[in-house]
Amino acid sequence: MSQLKYCQGPKCHTYDTKDRKKGPKDNKRNETRRRSSMYYGKGNFCSLGCYNDWAEVFSDLAIDHFGRITQPKVLTKDNAWRKSYDWNRNGSDRHYVYNYLTDERIPLTEDQYSNDDTIIDAQGRLTTREFYTPTM
Ligand SMILES: [Zn+2]
Repeated sequence: MSQLKYCQGPKCHTYDTKDRKKGPKDNKRNETRRRSSMYYGKGNFCSLGCYNDWAEVFSDLAIDHFGRITQPKVLTKDNAWRKSYDWNRNGSDRHYVYNYLTDERIPLTEDQYSNDDTIIDAQGRLTTREFYTPTM
């Protein structure tokens, strides 16, 4: 049940390609691309060119609407946590949470690494330091 939708690029119809051509010989026209899935800009644009055309026209409006960054965003040791692992060819990879400002590592089980999305919140903060320490 895929629905066709139009590319949101404001100049999509001006690019002269075979697939944009529509209509009979005496009434030829180029139309905006219409597809069930597109790969750019969260599925809204048929090409990077159309995505850039949109950004050229609407970036300032969108940023002013949703909030322009006027202060630097800051990464500190408190929000610098990421899940990571050391690959091991023998299959016993070591999984951990890693703070890339302090180099601190706290071990995780592979299951915690793969399935527990509560260990680090969306802002990169560690939610708890109480993890089960895997025995290896
Ligand atoms: Zn397009």
